[in-house]
Amino acid sequence: MSVTSASPRTSTNSSAPDPVADPRPVIAISSCLLGEQVRFDGGHKRHSWIIGPLGKYFDYQPICPEVAIGLGIPRPPIRLVGDPDRPRAVGVKDPDLDVTDPLAQFARRTASTLDDVSGYIFKSKSPSWGMERVKLYGEFAGQKKTIGIHAREIMHALPNLPTEEEGRLNDAVLRENFVNRVLVYRRWQDLMAGNYGARDLVEFHAAHKYLVMAHSQAANKRLGALLSNLKGADLHAVAADYIAELMEALKRRCNRDRHVNVLQHIMGYLKKRLDGEDKQELLAAIEAYRREEVPLIVPIFLLRHHFRHHPDPYMDNQWYLDPHPAALGLRNNI
Ligand code: SF4
Repeated sequence: MSVTSASPRTSTNSSAPDPVADPRPVIAISSCLLGEQVRFDGGHKRHSWIIGPLGKYFDYQPICPEVAIGLGIPRPPIRLVGDPDRPRAVGVKDPDLDVTDPLAQFARRTASTLDDVSGYIFKSKSPSWGMERVKLYGEFAGQKKTIGIHAREIMHALPNLPTEEEGRLNDAVLRENFVNRVLVYRRWQDLMAGNYGARDLVEFHAAHKYLVMAHSQAANKRLGALLSNLKGADLHAVAADYIAELMEALKRRCNRDRHVNVLQHIMGYLKKRLDGEDKQELLAAIEAYRREEVPLIVPIFLLRHHFRHHPDPYMDNQWYLDPHPAALGLRNNI
C-alpha cells in the first residue's frame, strides 16, 4: 500500500446532508487515524468517531509524514531524543538513522499547501505528530515531554489553524471546542477569500460575540477594540491581528460559569417577550445547567425554541445558539 502527502481528500460519507458549508470544510489528519495501514508495523489507528459521525460533515486530507519521506511500510520505529525544545527523531534500534531534517522539511512543504484546510488532527504521542506530551528518550528520558517534529513545524507555520490530537478528542469539552474552532476558521477563510471590507469584519465579529464570550469576555472586548476604528486602517493588518487573537481565545476551555453568563445575556433578548412561566422555566434550566444537573443543550434548546416564536434579528445572526451540526450532539455531554 502506498500513501503519500498528496493523498486525495477523502469523504467518509459523501451522501450526508451538509448543514455545515458547501464545499465541506477539509481537515488534514494523520492517515493512520482513518484506518490506512501506514504505521511502522503495517497497522493503523482507526478512530471510529472521526471516521463515522465527524466524517459526515467534513472531508479529510490524510497525511503520513514518515511514509512521505520514504521510510516505507513496515519500517524501523523512530523516537525522539535530546533537547526537549529541539528533539531529534532517530531510529529506536539504529540511532544513526536520523530523520529529523526530512520530517521538518516535509512539514514545512505541507504547511505551504494547507491554505484551504480548516483544521488538523494529529496522532497523539507519535514522534512525528504528538502536539504535547510526547515521550523523550536519552538525556531527558522520564523528566520531560516534547512535541512531535511534524506537529511542531505545522503549528509554527500556521499558528491560527485549529489543531487537536485524536486522544484529546475523547474529552467532550475539547471535542466541541475543536469542531467549533474549525467551523469559525472556515467562515473566516471564506470571508478572506472575497473582497471584504471594514463592515464585513465588524459583522463577522458581531455574529461571533457570544461564542467568543463563552471562552473569554476579555478577549471579546479586545477583539471589539481592534475593530472599533477602521476608518483609513490597513484592513489586512487588522484582519491578521483579529484572527490571531480570535483563534487564541477560542482555544480557551469553556466552563459552566462562562456559558451561564452567556445564556443569561441571551435570555435578556427575550425578557419583554416571555410570560412569567416561560421565564421561570428558562431560568430554572440555566440554573440546572450551572448545577451540572443537565447538559448545555437543555437551556440552548429552550432558548432556540423561544427565538423561533419570538425572532430577534440580532440573535438570528449569532453562531452561539447553533454553532455545529446538531446531529453531532456535541453539547449533549458538556
Ligand atoms: S502517526 Fe503519523 S507518521 Fe505514524 S503512521 Fe500515523 S500518520 Fe504515519
